[in-house]
Amino acid sequence: MNAEIIAVGSEMLGVSRLDTNSLYLTAELNKLGVEVVAKAVIGDDRDRLADAVRAAMSRAEILILSGGLGPTEDDVTREAVAQALDRKLVYSAEVAGWLEQRFAAARRKMAENNKRQAYVIEGADLLPNDRGTAPGQWVEESGSVAMLLPGPPHELKAMFERQCLPRIARVVPKQVIRTLFWRVAGMGESDLDHLIAPVYKKYENPVTTILAAAGDIQIHLRARCKTEAEGDALLAEVAGPMELLLGDRLYSHNGDPLEAVVGELLRKNHATVSVAESATGGMLGERLTSVAGSSEYFAGGFITYNDTMKASLLAVPQELLDEHGAVSREVAEAMAIGARRRTASTYALSVTGVAGPTGGSEKTPVGTMYVGFADAAGTYVAHRQFLGDRQRIRSFVAQMAMDVLRRRILGKL
Ligand code: ATP
Repeated sequence: MNAEIIAVGSEMLGVSRLDTNSLYLTAELNKLGVEVVAKAVIGDDRDRLADAVRAAMSRAEILILSGGLGPTEDDVTREAVAQALDRKLVYSAEVAGWLEQRFAAARRKMAENNKRQAYVIEGADLLPNDRGTAPGQWVEESGSVAMLLPGPPHELKAMFERQCLPRIARVVPKQVIRTLFWRVAGMGESDLDHLIAPVYKKYENPVTTILAAAGDIQIHLRARCKTEAEGDALLAEVAGPMELLLGDRLYSHNGDPLEAVVGELLRKNHATVSVAESATGGMLGERLTSVAGSSEYFAGGFITYNDTMKASLLAVPQELLDEHGAVSREVAEAMAIGARRRTASTYALSVTGVAGPTGGSEKTPVGTMYVGFADAAGTYVAHRQFLGDRQRIRSFVAQMAMDVLRRRILGKL
C-alpha cells in the first residue's frame, strides 16, 4: 500500500521552516509496511492544492495533508480537498459547539472566523483535536483516503497516533519492511554503481538506493514482505553478492559513520590515535571526538597551519619544509611521526594539502592532499588530487584519512 504526504503552508516554501511532520508520518507509516512514494509542500493556494490532492488521490491509497486547518483565510486545506473531490463543505453545529466549549474553558471569546473550522467535507469523519482548535477530517473516495491533520507537530502526532494509525492498521495488508543500511569509503558513486548495479538491478524488491556524500556512499536496501523472515532472506540474497564485490570498502553494515567504526576498532585493539592537521583544521579531531566514549582512544591533536607550528609542535625538520614544501609526502609523514611521538599514541594521522580556492601552484594545484600515517611498524603516505570547492575537498580528505586509519588497523594497507 502506498501513501503520499502534502505539507500545506507557504511558510515552508521559504528558507526558514522545514516540513518535519512528513518525517514523523513516514516513520509511522513505514512501521505498518506502508511506503511513502511522494511528498510535496504546497503554499496556501486553494486551486494549486486542489490539483495536488486530486493527483495524489488518483495514485495512492493514502493521502495525508498536514496544516492549513486554522481559522484564517489562508487556511485552505478544507476548501481545497472539498474542491478536489467535488463535495460540499457542510457547517457542523456539533463542531461549532465543541469549539465554543474549548474557548469557554480557556475563558476566551471565540472569534467569528473560528467558525470556518466548523465546516466539514460532506461524508467526512471528524477527528477530534484535544490539543488545539482545528479538528481533523478523514475522507474516503474511490478506494483512497485523505486525512486532513493540523500543522502543529504536537497536535498532528497525537491525532495521527490515536485516531489514524488504528484505522490504517485495520485496512493495511500485513506487510513488513526490512532494511539494510551500508556505508562505503574509498570509491566514487559512479564506480560503485557500475560495480553493484548488475546485482541490484535484477531485483525490484528489495529496492536499492545509493546516496553519495564526499568520500562516503550510503547504500540503502528496503525489502517489503509478508514476514520478517521472508524480508531478511530477500535482503540476504541481494546483499551477499554485493558484499563480495565491495570487499573491505564496505566499512559499515549498520549505518554507523566512519568515526564510529574506527573508534570501535581502536577500542577493541586497546589502541590510541592522535592527529596532526593542517588543511582540515580540526575536522579529524572533531569527527573522532563526536563519538561518545572517544576519550578511551583519542589521545589528542595538533592544528599546525603554518610552517612554524609544524616545526615547533610536531618537530617537522625545517629542511623538509624548505626542500619539499608543507604540502608534500615528506612533510605529511613527518607530521604523523611528530604527533605520535608527542602523544605516545599507538597510531597517528596527518593531513596536509591545498583546499583552495587560492594557494595552488603548478606543483601543488588546488585539491592536492596528503594523508600521513605512523605506527610502531613505520609510516604510510597516501596522495590524492580532489576536485570540488574548499569544503568538499576538506570533507573528502578527512574521510580518506579516517579510512587510511581503518585499513591500517585492519592490515589492509
Ligand atoms: P492552526 O490552527 O494552529 O493554525 P493549522 O492546521 O492551520 O493549525 P498551520 O497554520 O498550517 O496549521 O501551521 C501551524 C504551525 O505548525 C506552523 O507555524 C508550524 O510551526 C507548524 N507546522 C505546520 N506544518 C508543519 C510541518 N509540515 N512540519 C513541521 N511543522 C509544521
